[in-house]
Amino acid sequence: MKPTPTLLLAALLATMTISAIADDLNLNLRSTSKEDGKTSEETVSWKPEKTALIICDMWDDHWCKSAARRVGEMAPALNETVNAAREKGVFIIHAPSSVVDFYENTRQRKLAQEAPFAKAPTKLSTSPRWGTAWCWTDPEYEAVLPIDDSDMGCSCKGEKCEIREAWSRQIDLIELKEGDALTDNGQETFNLLAERGIDNVILCGVHLNMCVLGRPFAIRQMVKLNKNVALMRDMTDTMYNPERPPGVDHFTGTDLVIAHVEKYWCPSMTSADFTGKKPFRFEEDKRGAGK
Ligand SMILES: [Zn+2]
Repeated sequence: MKPTPTLLLAALLATMTISAIADDLNLNLRSTSKEDGKTSEETVSWKPEKTALIICDMWDDHWCKSAARRVGEMAPALNETVNAAREKGVFIIHAPSSVVDFYENTRQRKLAQEAPFAKAPTKLSTSPRWGTAWCWTDPEYEAVLPIDDSDMGCSCKGEKCEIREAWSRQIDLIELKEGDALTDNGQETFNLLAERGIDNVILCGVHLNMCVLGRPFAIRQMVKLNKNVALMRDMTDTMYNPERPPGVDHFTGTDLVIAHVEKYWCPSMTSADFTGKKPFRFEEDKRGAGK
């Protein structure tokens, strides 16, 4: 049979529909029940052009030697994940808090500074901590954190690290590319998202019990801005000292905070949804079960 124009058009439309579906991000989002602590997973399809990946505080150094070592170990895997997400069309925001001046005059910094002002649907947090606005633990949303980080969480054995401002930029193992933005500011972040009509925000980076929850571009603020938020749970770490309650090893401590986030704030996913590889795992994490 000779193909008629109508048939050809139908075939073309079918191809377009298939490619549009294939281009969607299929993310496996895990939640934890507040009632019984059981986890459940659902697969969602997010449009890459409606999705941002925000990299929180992946600094070049840290006052805690163990924390700095873990960032260095995670950074290459995170960079690979960021590259994969960018290739799929996800918008990348680098958010190295308090060191954005290092990037003055870069295209990534300018993109954030020049995004047109957009009024947020709720008041952006302004209460300061560590030099920027901060979204504090919120009893209207969440229970107390499951780990005690009141000592700031140096996990080093023996002598504890002295707290100091050790960072000067984002770790250079994470590449900045054309089209990425760089900011640590809540309003600039909101402007960037509004400009692109972005509804979905994935958070990764460190440290989950502090900055990844509290920063003005991070989980608490994004949830309160009614974004669809997800935590990339294998691309994060905590400041947790196993000598403090609940007295579990460092990585179990991180998992407890991940479960806290899944219960009270947003579901989590892994980098596998972008890379097709196994989720990242720290060398030092000798526990049996996978993430
Ligand atoms: Zn330390």
